[in-house]
Amino acid sequence: MALKLVSRSQWGARAYLTPNGATPYSQARRGVKLHYLGTPYSDRPHEQCAAYIRQLQAQHMDGNGWSDIGYSFAVCTHGYVYEGRGLKRRNSANGNTALNEQDYAVLLLVGSTGLTKPTDDQLHGARDAIEYCRKEGPAGDWLGGHRDGFATACPGDAVYAWVKAGAPRPAAQQQEDPMAGLTKKDIFDAVWKTDALAAPKDAADIKTNPNWQPQSILRDVQARVRSLTVTVAAQSAAINTLAAKVGSGVDTKTVVQAVEKAIKDAVIKVDIDITQNQES
Ligand SMILES: [Zn+2]
Ligand SMILES: [Zn+2]
Repeated sequence: MALKLVSRSQWGARAYLTPNGATPYSQARRGVKLHYLGTPYSDRPHEQCAAYIRQLQAQHMDGNGWSDIGYSFAVCTHGYVYEGRGLKRRNSANGNTALNEQDYAVLLLVGSTGLTKPTDDQLHGARDAIEYCRKEGPAGDWLGGHRDGFATACPGDAVYAWVKAGAPRPAAQQQEDPMAGLTKKDIFDAVWKTDALAAPKDAADIKTNPNWQPQSILRDVQARVRSLTVTVAAQSAAINTLAAKVGSGVDTKTVVQAVEKAIKDAVIKVDIDITQNQES
């Protein structure tokens, strides 16, 4: 899953205050600490996520008096990763300067009430953010929550359990897929196996013959086409025989009538066979 990074300009961030907002990390990061909002939160359309991040930044700057949004990154429920202070500038979310120096701070947009469990997309996004911090920060392998080494409930029990389990990607959704678990050979055999049972002839037959396969229908249709071909060929032969007699004493009108009747019979025969085919 590719990182869906939303840059500061993309979410409409205000400029951070200097000099504090520009303070770089003075040491390598041990790892990544996760956070939650700690307030009620309800999920919302992704179109509203950028505005929510702008509001968080305003709270941190205008309410807390910080120089910027406190987090390094923030992850919405749709899996997008918003750039806060980013990879190079020291965050201000982990509780004190030493803790801010120690680990990156990644927020998940989940609340203490309302939406409290991260979505699968969000867990993928958080995992993407962690890997981004490790690769580009760089950050070490350590993972934890705001509550590690600081008295807070953050990041909530759901996020904390996930991050302490190593921040695994969610398992792929179990689809109700009837083809799941079938190999290519299974599918090939199901369609093309030549020793398939006959297709059911009617609704009642489906109950007594539940194991028929698609190949059965193909085989039945093929048999019907072959039978029609034979019938038409026989009638063509009869017409040819009559036609050969023209000029050897047979009345032309009789020949024409015989040909017309043979064609009519052939058409009726085709019609009947097609009808039968549809009924079975
Ligand atoms: Zn926190
Ligand atoms: Zn979103």
